[in-house]
Amino acid sequence: MVLLERVAYLVSDERRAEAFAALKKRVGTSADRILAAPRKVLVEVARLGGMHPERRAEDLREIARIVKDRFGGDLPSALRLPLPDAKRALRLFPGIGEPGAEKILLFSGAYALLPLESNGLRTLLRLGFGVEQKAYAASYRSAQAAVAEGLPRDTAWLVRAHQLLRRHGQTICKASVPLCARCPLRGDCAYFAAPARA
Ligand code: SF4
Repeated sequence: MVLLERVAYLVSDERRAEAFAALKKRVGTSADRILAAPRKVLVEVARLGGMHPERRAEDLREIARIVKDRFGGDLPSALRLPLPDAKRALRLFPGIGEPGAEKILLFSGAYALLPLESNGLRTLLRLGFGVEQKAYAASYRSAQAAVAEGLPRDTAWLVRAHQLLRRHGQTICKASVPLCARCPLRGDCAYFAAPARA
């Protein structure tokens, strides 16, 4: 998941998957294989994943170096750490912030969390969970805190919630103009019920 995150940047899921498949096929995903790969090949793979391929190719090497130097080649050991330490460990990698670290911990089944990427966060805030703040991190914490009490400790459920919120934000609750007339959630939505939109 760390490599999947960094092999592409600001592209569709399909293009990200294509770049990752090329990494697996042409290089491999072990730290040793990545460190042994010619830079030219890593750049070609990273180019399939969008902008700044040179920088991301170097990041792929950096990821491999961290896995070897900081984790002795055993990255899954980071998933067994206490939650704050596990997040800190994953945030050592380029391109992995708090939401990315939480997503890895959830999708790997290590912790029952609800990570939010930007689309899911926007959807939750508009629905009325949390308060949007100037700082993205503060909005993120606010939305998470607002839903925390009602969340099950079921990682499969939480993965599905993460994906549904993301998809809803991408396709209906869009950043510029939310398509409220088509939204099945509008009866429960604080944004839709606000006086200016009533
Ligand atoms: S009603 Fe509108 S603002 Fe509310 S969740 Fe749906 S699309 Fe988003």
